[in-house]
Amino acid sequence: MGTTIDVEALCLKKGLRITEQRRVIARVLSEVNDHPDVEALHHRVAAIDPRISIATVYRTVKLFEEAGIIERHEFQGGRSRYETVQDEHHDHLIDIETGRVIEFHDAELEELQQKIAARLGFRLADHRMELYGVAIKAKG
Ligand SMILES: [Zn+2]
Repeated sequence: MGTTIDVEALCLKKGLRITEQRRVIARVLSEVNDHPDVEALHHRVAAIDPRISIATVYRTVKLFEEAGIIERHEFQGGRSRYETVQDEHHDHLIDIETGRVIEFHDAELEELQQKIAARLGFRLADHRMELYGVAIKAKG
């Protein structure tokens, strides 16, 4: 969410080999705060180094995802979108008109989910909450 993640440092920590191109992609991912898809990532990467192809971005994103550095979201009606893995859990609200992703955290909702799991005989290990909405326009 708000915190900047040093993707390159994480790669080193996870023992991933850092090439020059991967470093550029890692840098772009470190600055991401809007859940871009691969195409949007490639735009930003190519602005720094135009030699980096979209195929390279695809491969690198997959590698980083497998290493647990970034997270993939399959929001309805769109391509896979990515963000760095955060320490603090958050959920997403997707504006179905613009595709904009809004992050939120709600303590009551978290508690309710745990209660539901417990009621069904489970300890909650993980969850994903996606809300889809249309922005309410201010009158006048
Ligand atoms: Zn997010």
